[in-house]
Amino acid sequence: MEKKVSKIGVLTSGGDSPGMNAAIRAVVRTGNYHGLEVFGIMRGYQGLLEDDIFRMENRSVANIIQRGGTILKTARCKEFRTPEGRDRAYQVLKGRGIDGLVIIGGDGSFRGAVEFSAEYDIPCIGLAGTIDKDIAGTDFTIGFDTAVNTAVEAIDKIRDTADAHDRLFIIEVMGRDAGYIALHSGIACGAENILIPEQKTDIEAVVQSLQEKERRKKLVNLIVVAEGDEFGGANEVAKVIKERLPNIETRVAILGHIQRGGAPTCLDRLIASRMGYHAVESLIHGRHNVFVGITNNRMNYIPLEQVHKKKGKISPEWMKIVKILAS
Ligand code: ADP
Repeated sequence: MEKKVSKIGVLTSGGDSPGMNAAIRAVVRTGNYHGLEVFGIMRGYQGLLEDDIFRMENRSVANIIQRGGTILKTARCKEFRTPEGRDRAYQVLKGRGIDGLVIIGGDGSFRGAVEFSAEYDIPCIGLAGTIDKDIAGTDFTIGFDTAVNTAVEAIDKIRDTADAHDRLFIIEVMGRDAGYIALHSGIACGAENILIPEQKTDIEAVVQSLQEKERRKKLVNLIVVAEGDEFGGANEVAKVIKERLPNIETRVAILGHIQRGGAPTCLDRLIASRMGYHAVESLIHGRHNVFVGITNNRMNYIPLEQVHKKKGKISPEWMKIVKILAS
């Protein structure tokens, strides 16, 4: 027997990503369209435990579609990892009569939802909000496109300097476990080498390719490194290159947190809107405890308990393309 929902809560949890606001807006307006009462929960699971919850009308999400970050704020919450914490969360929801939850966050936030929905009869729907694009089962995650475009814009600027001085730049982008930001921005910016956690880094091959390019007087050299590359970040790579190729003027640029914020791109606004709409439709139609993904331009509903990090699955063909195009 499917449970009907009438009051739903929406929260953002874990790392923020651009487009979360567009997703909140879509959830609130679709919920209100269907006559549900929609509640915003501040600071993820933390605000849920603290009953930091307020009613959201259509006007409460006006003028946010273009804004990065999240108006609901986000947090990490240790207490929600404990059965006592989750029990408190349930009591809060029960007290307010909230009978469905939309969780916008990464795989950690989804794992929290799995625990919670297994223990209590509160259906949960996940929306993948992460700049890392590291959730299996969806071609898109909310925020990735913006983050990668921010990286591209920054690397293009660095390229101008690299070109003006004939320097080698080693640029570190975000991605502790996943190399998608590095791979996409690296290809889009014409990087000679891209180092990602999914592939073992052959530093000798990197050194050799630079030597070879030096011989051919290749003017601009860019190496893009994901922060989580197993060899180390940009500083570690630079250390080896400076030692082995002292003639090359080498600089390091670590892009850091600029990749998280900023106005979401059209694509991120679009997928956030689409996913937010379908999250509410799922709750209404009894498709519970799933996260909403998009695969081959179709909505895809993956059971939350099947959530896992997309890892180690970057095709070697990508690296071949990088090599050929940077020659
Ligand atoms: P993200 O959602 O970006 O991957 P985290 O991994 O930090 O971020 O997870 C966000 C929050 O989700 C945590 O602070 C915690 O409250 C909750 N959470 C994560 N894993 C679990 C778990 N196994 N059980 C219960 N709650 C969890």
